[in-house]
Amino acid sequence: MKTEKTFVIIKPDGIQRSLIGEIIGRFERIGLKLVAMRMCLPTPEMARKHYTIDPEWVRKAGQKSIDNYKSKGLVPPSDNPLEIGNKVLGRLEKYLSSGPVVTMVWQGAHAIQIVRKLVGGTEPLSSDTGTIRGDFVLDSYRMSDQDERSIRNLIHASGSVDEAHQEIDLWFKKDEVIKYKHIQEAILYDVNLDGILE
Ligand code: GDP
Ligand code: MG
Repeated sequence: MKTEKTFVIIKPDGIQRSLIGEIIGRFERIGLKLVAMRMCLPTPEMARKHYTIDPEWVRKAGQKSIDNYKSKGLVPPSDNPLEIGNKVLGRLEKYLSSGPVVTMVWQGAHAIQIVRKLVGGTEPLSSDTGTIRGDFVLDSYRMSDQDERSIRNLIHASGSVDEAHQEIDLWFKKDEVIKYKHIQEAILYDVNLDGILE
């Protein structure tokens, strides 16, 4: 449990908004350990590979979008999840390859769930205040759909254990994910707390 890893991308808008330090700071201060990091310019192919690791992602993203329209009393542009999902994917390829990104692996107890909590919901307009997407950006599905572009939400974070494993393997070589001790793990995870008093 203590070695759970999650994969994070600070997307091109996160870099352009000068939020690298702010975002990394939030993961550091909660107690997670940074075990891999790189800045790179993803190709559209890499963006597509990333989002289609799960062969079901296109259908799920399309369905999520359709449900979103319906929950707001709006008529979706199509009732076919694959058609909508593919449109979302095409826009994501453009978004993720539009500028440099920072890719990272964070490790610690419940890393996947903890990072998703700090990141907040997909649509910044409705992400909780206090989360990264809720605090630092104002985009909405309504605005991004109208402009036929991907919603700009600063960051990607793995949604499940399987997703995390596959994404880490896609973006990092085995020896780029570093195994090391972080001094704060003593207070986060030590059972007896017998290393403090002199
Ligand atoms: P996440 O895990 O919260 O990032 O959300 P998903 O994995 O469902 O979607 C991945 C990314 O695709 C999101 O971060 C958005 O940038 C984009 N996206 C997802 N669904 C939609 C949608 O319905 N409309 C638009 N415009 N973008 C979407
Ligand atoms: Mg996702």
